[in-house]
Amino acid sequence: MTKIKDITALLEQLAPLRYQESYDNAGLQTGDANAEVSGVLVTLDCTEEVLEEALAKGCNLVVAHHPVIFKGLKQLTGRSYVERTIIKAIQNNIAIYASHTNLDNVLHGVNTKIADKLGLRQQRILVTKPSTLMQLVTFVPVEQTDGVLAALHKAGAGNIGEYSACSFSVTGTGRFTPSEQANPAIGSANQAEQVQENRLELLFPAVLQGRIMAALKEAHPYEEVAHYLYNLENQNQEVGIGMIGELEQELSEEAFLSYLKEKMKLQGLRYTSIGNQKVKRVAVCGGAGSFLIKDALRQGADALVTGDVKYHEFFDAEGQLMIADIGHYESEVYTKEIFYDVISKSFPNFAVLISEVNTNPVRYTF
Ligand SMILES: [Zn+2]
Repeated sequence: MTKIKDITALLEQLAPLRYQESYDNAGLQTGDANAEVSGVLVTLDCTEEVLEEALAKGCNLVVAHHPVIFKGLKQLTGRSYVERTIIKAIQNNIAIYASHTNLDNVLHGVNTKIADKLGLRQQRILVTKPSTLMQLVTFVPVEQTDGVLAALHKAGAGNIGEYSACSFSVTGTGRFTPSEQANPAIGSANQAEQVQENRLELLFPAVLQGRIMAALKEAHPYEEVAHYLYNLENQNQEVGIGMIGELEQELSEEAFLSYLKEKMKLQGLRYTSIGNQKVKRVAVCGGAGSFLIKDALRQGADALVTGDVKYHEFFDAEGQLMIADIGHYESEVYTKEIFYDVISKSFPNFAVLISEVNTNPVRYTF
């Protein structure tokens, strides 16, 4: 039996809720986490129409990118589409889960999807997030070092970029005196003890702290495990916003515009001209990404592909950057594929459906 919480736990492995921005409201919005899943419908937005689709297709979990409850709700009377959506979900026992800015801020999230659609190479996060890494220092008897290290690595400590099982150690002397009440693995009450120990140092993502400390306590032979935890200011190359990469071949402005329209299936877009400058390095940010214009310029991007750019923000391109506003919906609609791929890969015998509703409230006329 698959429970709603099994699916949300899987999504949070990809995009931990801790990575969401402070203003956000990602997570389970309605429903019982312990209910059995009958089917999952993935969507960009959860609207009443999407709930109708979920009901028709026998799905009791809707996974969306945008949280339908974003600001606080003070009543549930059905006066707004948000209230009506929530009422409908509750009346029909449909759980709604949102993976929002946390999915914008991870390596295999919203922005990698756009970068992949555009065929960008040498992809990396445009602005990495500080304060998401920690360091563990602990002391282990020499003979038990390998076992403790193996447990820590299994829990996710010591991965740096493309390198796994990373650690540093130095051997020294540990000293302690057990009390009458202690139950020491080595030594006896009131007798000073000296043991050859390794000082181990490992990096890990702060979101894994609970899991890693549990693994340490489980694997370590001592009753009291001496350790230090440090918050690090290091940039985490796997967490942050936007993505930057290079096109296989540089393109003229005109050719890049056609390429964008084809790859992102656009009817049209708004952009700033870079004249005869070629487009090779491209930054992307799903949704509203104009706050990244300066970072894109600083990192030598020729184009920034995003949505929701305001008139005055286009001026910040300074004629050096093609700001391509392809639309909020158009930039993020393929996020559905991320949800679909992740869930259907882990639950292959389970109905995971991509919503067919076009939730874009914006229509175009030319
Ligand atoms: Zn968005």
